[in-house]
Amino acid sequence: MVDFINESKIFSILESSINPDKGEIREILAKARECKGITLEETGKLLHVEDKDLMEELFEAAKYVKDRIYGKRVVLFAPLYTGNKCVNNCLYCGFRRDNKELHRKTLELEEIVNEAKAIEKQGHKRLLLICGEHPKTDVKHFTKAMEAIYSETDIRRINIEAAPMKVEDYRELKQAGIGTYVIFQETYHRDTYKKMHPMGIKADYDWRITALDRAFEGGIDDVGVGALFGLYDYRFEVLGLLMHCMYLEERFGVGPHTISVPRLRPALGWALDEIPYPVTDEDFKKIVAIYRLSVPYTGIILSTRERAELRDELLNLGVSQISAGSKTNPGGYEEDDDQADQFEISDSRSLPKVLETICDKGYIPSFCTACYRRCRTGEHFMEYAKEGEIHEFCQPNAILTFKENLIDFGNEELREKGERIIQKALDEIENENMKAETIKKLKQIEEGMRD
Ligand code: SAM
Ligand code: SF4
Repeated sequence: MVDFINESKIFSILESSINPDKGEIREILAKARECKGITLEETGKLLHVEDKDLMEELFEAAKYVKDRIYGKRVVLFAPLYTGNKCVNNCLYCGFRRDNKELHRKTLELEEIVNEAKAIEKQGHKRLLLICGEHPKTDVKHFTKAMEAIYSETDIRRINIEAAPMKVEDYRELKQAGIGTYVIFQETYHRDTYKKMHPMGIKADYDWRITALDRAFEGGIDDVGVGALFGLYDYRFEVLGLLMHCMYLEERFGVGPHTISVPRLRPALGWALDEIPYPVTDEDFKKIVAIYRLSVPYTGIILSTRERAELRDELLNLGVSQISAGSKTNPGGYEEDDDQADQFEISDSRSLPKVLETICDKGYIPSFCTACYRRCRTGEHFMEYAKEGEIHEFCQPNAILTFKENLIDFGNEELREKGERIIQKALDEIENENMKAETIKKLKQIEEGMRD
């Protein structure tokens, strides 16, 4: 049995951090502002903050760390569901095997490319392939999809969120050009895991939690993790996930590239009567802020499971990547079908609308995929990030890729807001050479040149 998630240690940290002392919390926040992370014990204390003023201070610290490391950029992507057939029966998911109401479908290669083209037409450059666990959606399904999308569209980065595989399969994904491999443990709590996954391959907690070990062994060095909030106590999940990150960093020299923050949503045909451990919006904000402080260099991904207003607020607290204009049914970009969805989406704004809001909040949208294409992945990305250089590279790249987006896809209103935010972001570049180079490239983009 895998033992790097030490449950008794998590419970003991949580017990000893109830009712934290205000002075101590402020010391932890001061340490977190140094952007070097904090210990599990310190995280445990932050997880118990309830006092309104302290909570504000916690949010302020998260905002500070986010701005210092990531600057003002927000990276955008869209999910592409390639199939909703599944051999598992996760109680919370609309794709579960026993959901007889669901319209099932696995997209053919041509349909996948059409979906990718529809996503590209919105203005996206990155996408995330997702599907249920099924013999029809094996590793070849993904490698063929990647080959076709890379060759027939202008999508530059393809990430994949899929069930655990063997080392050889991960090697194939790497060769076919995967960006980040994402897998959520769902819950780090073994007993809850057992209850929620009663049968099928997914019932095996250890096979799932060791998926990232095999991904690293297969050569994939950009991986993403997540806990599905709502299944068990969120405080336990945060510490479990951070333990997982520490384990990966120790074993492979680099932790996860991203942490996703999925929160359970009602799904048509799920097998739950209610959400077992509901997480309030206030606690959800706390979770995002605490991740930002605990692992400052790891990207935080937020999906359209959350409401528009809350998503906008979470940008301030540490989220660095968001999906937009999403559909969660296979074929959804060409034709919507509510009875094929994985779960209900809360933010159904189009990509241009989301871009406008990002600009209104003083952030700059980014469609950049440069790190991946220049092999700044895994350990190499972290070296850059820790030197503070990601900030320096990311701001100009965000400016340039957003400019391309505005010219190629923007409407009048968005262009006006976008140009203003581009100017502001340019003014913020401190390095004069970098600024001059960015201005030169902006002109070239206006004249028709593309990255
Ligand atoms: N089938 C693969 C798996 O389970 O790893 C691929 C991903 S599954 C389609 C995507 C993720 O959606 C799951 O890992 C789970 O965390 C999340 N999910 C499932 N049901 C959900 C629901 N009702 N609300 C929110 N997220 C849900
Ligand atoms: Fe299948 Fe994944 Fe949904 Fe579980 S979460 S039922 S494995 S698609």
